[in-house]
Amino acid sequence: MKYSALNLAWQGVRNHRGWRRAWRHATPKKAYDAIIIGGGGHGLGAAYYLAKKHGITNVAVLEKGWLGGGNTARNTMTIRDNFIYPDNARFHHAAVKSWHTLSSELNFNMMISKRGMTTVLMSDRDLSDAQRMINTTALFGAEHRIIDIEELQQRLPMAVSPARLPIVGGVYHPDVVMARHDAVAWGYARAASNLGVDIIENCEVTDIIRDAKGVTGVETSLGNILTRKLGMAVAGHGKHVAAMAGVELPIETVPLQAMVSTPVKPFLDNIVVLRGFNTYFMQSDKGELVMGSGTDPYPSYSQRGAPQIPEATIAAILQVFPSLERMQFMRQWAGILDLTYDNSPIISKTEVDGFYIDVAGSGGFKTTPLAAMMHADLIANDRPDPLIEAYSLERFSTGRLILERASYGNR
Ligand SMILES: Cc1cc2nc3c(=O)[nH]c(=O)nc-3n(C[C@H](O)[C@H](O)[C@H](O)COP(=O)(O)OP(=O)(O)OC[C@H]3O[C@@H](n4cnc5c(N)ncnc54)[C@H](O)[C@@H]3O)c2cc1C
Repeated sequence: MKYSALNLAWQGVRNHRGWRRAWRHATPKKAYDAIIIGGGGHGLGAAYYLAKKHGITNVAVLEKGWLGGGNTARNTMTIRDNFIYPDNARFHHAAVKSWHTLSSELNFNMMISKRGMTTVLMSDRDLSDAQRMINTTALFGAEHRIIDIEELQQRLPMAVSPARLPIVGGVYHPDVVMARHDAVAWGYARAASNLGVDIIENCEVTDIIRDAKGVTGVETSLGNILTRKLGMAVAGHGKHVAAMAGVELPIETVPLQAMVSTPVKPFLDNIVVLRGFNTYFMQSDKGELVMGSGTDPYPSYSQRGAPQIPEATIAAILQVFPSLERMQFMRQWAGILDLTYDNSPIISKTEVDGFYIDVAGSGGFKTTPLAAMMHADLIANDRPDPLIEAYSLERFSTGRLILERASYGNR
């Protein structure tokens, strides 16, 4: 069923009784040509591209909960490309571009909105870091520019006077976009299902079966399923799912929190980053302030997070925007991140034949379409596209790390 204005009007006339399920309810077959573990944007996207670009349609996505119940629906939707190492700068710039045509390709409104991002810089070190980031990313086509205090005040008129805080200027990044996060899961699920992919919810992978040649299948809560090609896109669960295949991942698993206020009339069209405080916020289409900062300071699988993080985030925002002090806090949550030791993604084959992994590295909503496309390509062809050669798992033993952890894009 094609979604269009005409169809919407037609369904309206019929009292909206004619809509079909967005994706088929599938029960697992005995065997598939490929299986993807994880029904978030990355996993569903990989299944869609396997079917669409490689003609491999005998594919299942196995999701232990419901679609998009993981980080895909828990993130703050910022799609940016301010990473400085060449492999990351190239990949993330291409990733931002990959969103532009996604809604029309999937015939699903992802509510992609171009916001722009204004970063408030509060030290000379931030300023020189920003300049370095701008110079590097420009080589790959990204557009950021330093703005002076006057322009910063024009963009953020509610910010405190620079006389009260050591604000030295800002960075403006016009290409930053936001997308409705759960629509990404639903859009990929619908498009993949239309191409024949089986999407199986409430199906937890509990073990990975191997023989001397490599992967032969998975054990799941709905029984064993055979496959010779297995992709993993499980966000914060990578360490223990990979361990089922005997693969050890160099990652640390930590909660990352987000929080929202009650909705108010629109007053902020930019995403604001307070660099000195490692905090950011924006206003959603519904009017809520969406706020976030760094990860919790210790590893955990709890999807609640530590209380000091919201407290510090709000304190930081109020220092720069004291006029927001009467906003009301509505709710807070956490998702679980698999942080790689260099904060760069892993999209790679493993030492186990037929077992391929996509680990976002730090914040991977922004890379969803491109990472999924590259993961599918890897599964189909059993070799990495040049764009992801640097993201191999091997780099942690050869030492060719992409040490983005302390750089501009990750602080
Ligand atoms: C609070 C927060 C804010 C964020 N903000 C941003 C941001 O602004 N920009 C950005 O780029 N990124 C951001 N991120 C990161 C981003 O959300 C993730 O990197 C990305 O969404 C990961 O997508 P995914 O499809 O890999 O994972 P998920 O959506 O988590 O999907 C993985 C799925 O795997 C399933 N699964 C796990 N184990 C099994 C198993 N054994 N069997 C079957 N299924 C299994 C899970 O149930 C889950 O649904 C943020 C994350 C959080 C938590």
